[in-house]
Amino acid sequence: MTTKSDVLIIGGGPVGLSCAYYLLKSGRQVTLLDAKDIGKGSGSGNAGHIVPSHIIPLAAPGVVTSALKWMLDPAHSPFGMKVSLDPNYLIWLLKFVLACSQNNVNRSIEPLNQLGQLSARNFAQIIAEEKFDCAYQEKGLLHLFKTEKAFHEGQHEGEFMQKHGIPVSMYDKNKIHEVEPAAVDDVIGGVHFTGDAHLNPAVFLNLLKERIQSMGAELMGGTQVTGFETSNGKVTKVKTTAGDFEAEQIVLAAGALTPSVSKDLKLNIPIQPARGYSLTMSANKTMPSHALILGERRIAVSPMAGLLRFTGRLEVGNYSMEPNPVWLERIENSAREYLRLDEKLDVQETWAGLRPTTPDGVPIIGKSPKHENLFPATGHAMLGLSLAPGTGLVVSQLLNGQEPAFSLSPMRLERFG
Ligand SMILES: Cc1cc2nc3c(=O)[nH]c(=O)nc-3n(C[C@H](O)[C@H](O)[C@H](O)COP(=O)(O)OP(=O)(O)OC[C@H]3O[C@@H](n4cnc5c(N)ncnc54)[C@H](O)[C@@H]3O)c2cc1C
Repeated sequence: MTTKSDVLIIGGGPVGLSCAYYLLKSGRQVTLLDAKDIGKGSGSGNAGHIVPSHIIPLAAPGVVTSALKWMLDPAHSPFGMKVSLDPNYLIWLLKFVLACSQNNVNRSIEPLNQLGQLSARNFAQIIAEEKFDCAYQEKGLLHLFKTEKAFHEGQHEGEFMQKHGIPVSMYDKNKIHEVEPAAVDDVIGGVHFTGDAHLNPAVFLNLLKERIQSMGAELMGGTQVTGFETSNGKVTKVKTTAGDFEAEQIVLAAGALTPSVSKDLKLNIPIQPARGYSLTMSANKTMPSHALILGERRIAVSPMAGLLRFTGRLEVGNYSMEPNPVWLERIENSAREYLRLDEKLDVQETWAGLRPTTPDGVPIIGKSPKHENLFPATGHAMLGLSLAPGTGLVVSQLLNGQEPAFSLSPMRLERFG
């Protein structure tokens, strides 16, 4: 059986759902497929940070040195990597190392800033217009520091962001304890990205899924894409476990699995998974009042209306989505170094997810170089929730033949050669 659609979206994570929302708003018919439950994958248990301040890509000078140093302290390292001789993995690592340059930072700032700002505005608009109750808070993202060295580096980064128009406040020891009373006494300072926000991502994604369903989208969870047929520079068939699909246009938003999903298309999409974990508990007696980054430990903290979540670790090359109890315990211990927490946490959920990571830290958004009706929208790494509503809008503009809100050329797949 072959099902015909107008736009077929592969992947029901933050990016696929946001594309569906803006395409439906523009009057298009949408069918969205996901191999698993829609809205329940790598987007649901994340920190929920909406961070237009995040304009420096993952591939930046000093990252490789820091990663090597962290690996000498494995019990606290926020970073890990798989040992493998898989050529795709090794090529990706090489491309990543080569991209860790000031040149890469300079060329990435503008597209990340434009997409981040658009997305932050779109989040506020969607949540207000659709009346989504998803613990959304526009209170910024507060980085806490315990050592002079890390605080100094944090301030330096804050000043750099300020030069690019990002609103930042710096707090000394007195001020940080006034602003965030949940911080323990030996936190010595903070850097506050006041234009950031946060929400409960699982609740947001579920509300978005329900909304696009009510707007007429056909949603097919448990439907895995298994291959493609192409002819004359077009994708003519998408093969799935629920039969074949034909579509005028196809959005490829399968997150970290995009390279394997699209292998028939020979697009050579350089994405590796970067796994991370979260643990979510009932509210503590002393709740942080802000979304936080625990500076030296690189742990994210998210208060979410009666729940508190810690997330951490970035393990390149691992596809398993099993939470690792050893790392969950280490994440909890790290959080205790910064926050006044209950002696025993009432843990409600443990989780692992995959960040779809490109070697240069910039997403891939645009038309396929080989197929006129295929549009990859992926590779958002640690920002896939934060950048999703902006991605959804520019993808809908692209599919509708309109000029996107800003130039997408820095995000084209062709930049990888
Ligand atoms: C610990 C952690 C914390 C994070 N914190 C944040 C944060 O605070 N802010 C932020 O912006 N981002 C954060 N992220 C990153 C964010 O979660 C990802 O960038 C985001 O989930 C990527 O969205 P996506 O829609 O591209 O891919 P995904 O969320 O991975 O969705 C892709 C979907 O495609 C489906 N799929 C895969 N293969 C197939 C197939 N063959 N057929 C059909 N469907 C398929 C999958 O089932 C999945 O549902 C975090 C990630 C982790 C791991």
